[in-house]
Amino acid sequence: MAAPGAFPPPKLGEPYLLTPGPLTTDYGVKQAMLRDWGSWDGDFRAMTAELRQRLVAMLGAGGEDYTCVPMQGSGSYLVEAMLGSFVPRNGKVLVLANGAYGLRAAKTCQTIGRAHVLLDKGDYMPPRGDEVARILADDPAITHVLAIHCETSSGILNPVAEIAAAVQAAGRKLLIDSMSAFGAVPLEPGVIPYDAMVSSSNKCIEGVPGFGFVMARKAEVIASAGQSHSLALDVHAQWDYMEKTGQWRFTPPTHVVAAFIEALKMHEAEGGVAARGARYAANRDAVVAGMRRLGFETLLDDSWLSPIIVTFFSPADPAFDFGRFYDGMKARGFIIYPGKLTVAESFRLGCIGRMDTGVMDRVVAAVGEALTELGVASAAPPASALQERAKLQSAGQEEIA
Ligand SMILES: *Cc1c(COP(=O)(O)O)cnc(C)c1O
Repeated sequence: MAAPGAFPPPKLGEPYLLTPGPLTTDYGVKQAMLRDWGSWDGDFRAMTAELRQRLVAMLGAGGEDYTCVPMQGSGSYLVEAMLGSFVPRNGKVLVLANGAYGLRAAKTCQTIGRAHVLLDKGDYMPPRGDEVARILADDPAITHVLAIHCETSSGILNPVAEIAAAVQAAGRKLLIDSMSAFGAVPLEPGVIPYDAMVSSSNKCIEGVPGFGFVMARKAEVIASAGQSHSLALDVHAQWDYMEKTGQWRFTPPTHVVAAFIEALKMHEAEGGVAARGARYAANRDAVVAGMRRLGFETLLDDSWLSPIIVTFFSPADPAFDFGRFYDGMKARGFIIYPGKLTVAESFRLGCIGRMDTGVMDRVVAAVGEALTELGVASAAPPASALQERAKLQSAGQEEIA
């Protein structure tokens, strides 16, 4: 793992992005984009093949039966491609939601004409294995379950292992949105059984935005021929064409692919998924400890905090104003992220990207300065936010028991 301060700061006076993608990339990743490639040319076809091989290798145990299908677009395009391609038109999806991305997946099912039922746990309570088992037992029409690995809207790391066990025991299929976790949190099919997952170029692999990828059982891809609702988002068609020609069906994001291959090499050099996850966890621990020293509270208990992004309650102090706080952080070289909760005012700090604990310590120092500039005396959240958190957490515990 790189020592604190080992990463050079972004060049050209760029701020660090404390956001869950686009995020701060290495200068070498940006540099890889400084030439043009012909999409038909053998050089680029070799790049596509390398990208697919490297991603499948990252799956680890059980990955031999899987194939990688890269596809143009942002992460949501890939979620839509996965749902439309693998869920047959007469299938039915159980969508597990505890935040914005789960709700978006449900809306996607609705838009593309796939029947679905929604388990909505609110802002951040995790969907648990036993409730998934209950719903599947009660509704034999459900063919697929869609789970969010890290729900980026709160930062919760959902318990995908127990969800996968429940889905497997019920003989249904599991689709995982691992957009913001893949590459930093292990998702080995030999350990956590699933049929397909999606992620994108601009999250934990630390590439730039422009495409995503499906990793699915080969048998599942082959069986999905003709099922998609869409021409452009058809996973089977993209896979079939790529297998036959080595090319993407439509114009590929050539520069983004070049940057991504550089990012994949850096991922490997750092030590793979375990080392990437360890660096992000160290980032999280540094920022959470520092923010707590300043008086902030996290939305989640430590046991649910992901190494991806952390939600903090906004201070109750009337001098606190998110817009001015944002500007104060930007002036100090850090782009922060607004919160996405319905219960309380909050903001988020990402732990992913080309950053280490040395950077996170500077983030905490900048937060302290920005609060002083605003005249905020205490970073403590309103009592109502903490009461709401305690209420929801005890309700969640009862439900699990
Ligand atoms: C980033 C992300 C997505 C995709 O969002 P886009 O804006 O379309 O890239 C989907 N799910 C999760 C959990 C994410 O973090």
